[in-house]
Amino acid sequence: MTLKSKLPKVGTTIFSQMSQLAAQHQAINLSQGFPDFSPDPLLLDALAAYSQQGFNQYAPMPGIPALQTQIASLVQRCYQRTVNAEQEVTVTSGATEALFVAINAVVQPGDEVIVFDPAYDSYEPAINLCGGKAVHIALTAPGYRINWQQVAEAITLRTRLILVNSPHNPTGMVFTPQDWISLQQLVLKHNLYCISDEVYEHMVFDGAPQLSANCFADLAARSFIVSSFGKTFHVTGWKLGYCVAPAALSAEFRKIHQYVTFSSFTPAQHAVADMLAQQPQQVSGLARFYQHKRDHFVNVLHASRFTLLPCQGSYFLLADYSAISDLDDVSFCQWLTKEHKVAAIPLSVFYQTPLTARIVRFCFAKQDSTLNAAAEALCRI
Ligand code: PMP
Ligand code: GLN
Repeated sequence: MTLKSKLPKVGTTIFSQMSQLAAQHQAINLSQGFPDFSPDPLLLDALAAYSQQGFNQYAPMPGIPALQTQIASLVQRCYQRTVNAEQEVTVTSGATEALFVAINAVVQPGDEVIVFDPAYDSYEPAINLCGGKAVHIALTAPGYRINWQQVAEAITLRTRLILVNSPHNPTGMVFTPQDWISLQQLVLKHNLYCISDEVYEHMVFDGAPQLSANCFADLAARSFIVSSFGKTFHVTGWKLGYCVAPAALSAEFRKIHQYVTFSSFTPAQHAVADMLAQQPQQVSGLARFYQHKRDHFVNVLHASRFTLLPCQGSYFLLADYSAISDLDDVSFCQWLTKEHKVAAIPLSVFYQTPLTARIVRFCFAKQDSTLNAAAEALCRI
């Protein structure tokens, strides 16, 4: 029996492939983005306590009220926007679910969605499953800035949605205030919707302002803003995220969310709500924490033959290896993993059009000892 594939071009994600290769070759895994250190013990204790106290059944479909309220407070604290916790905040099973549901809420067959390459890998399959078409705009090294004039020219009568991601995975690019303003203008002018993937929102470096679609009222009025506690609290395996959207958009979002997962892991919702209420410095200190990691990693790679690209946010650093090898980036990552025992992610897999640049992504959400060991190996090449 052969089933006609709805995603004929999709294989196993690069993250699974590279993590598997890293494990197979006992390489230091700087490929898939996840921390190799423990989350705060208070968070783990809270998770255990809530589970032991009996909070083990279905949470309310949109999330437990305590967490919705804490998310609304977080949005107020970070972006001075007042959102209605009950109607405008929906807790999801990771940002991945929120993105999938938001895309399904908006995209009709034949609709076009503007995405920027390198694009996070979950966007396009979700768009295609709705019968939509991703229109790719390629961003290029070293800055990966968006040319908004080019975006304006890519908009057609079929364009329904623009999908943005700042801080950006995999490039570390962060939107300037002008980027947000340009985005808002286009969304309003062409009556579009926006999905703003802000999973790295609390990791903006060098004193740059932490901005969000939440900061721009007219944009926020047409946006699904998505974030992830997996990133913020170093628990990617908990798969807990959320979507902030105006009530009418949230109502459509919830129609789908209730049939995708219905609700998300109950004890984790309680534990994260407590952390947000009682340990707000965990969130406000995240940028400093990861800026230190970035600086440390850049420092220890100084003697290597890689050329490091600027990183303004997120926990990823791009490195150009053209002084080291002529291999294409996929082959280079395989070679690096097998021969030098460090795994990275090739950039070309995030582009629709073939990419000739020789650039790979390293994740620096790692203990300093891991970064040191990786750098030692990378500096020997
Ligand atoms: N968007 C981006 C840009 C990401 O890097 C990730 C992370 N892995 C996600 C969404 C998905 O987040 P989650 O793990 O919460 O599903
Ligand atoms: N977001 C993570 C990354 O970019 C991976 C998530 C996944 O494995 N699907 O590395």
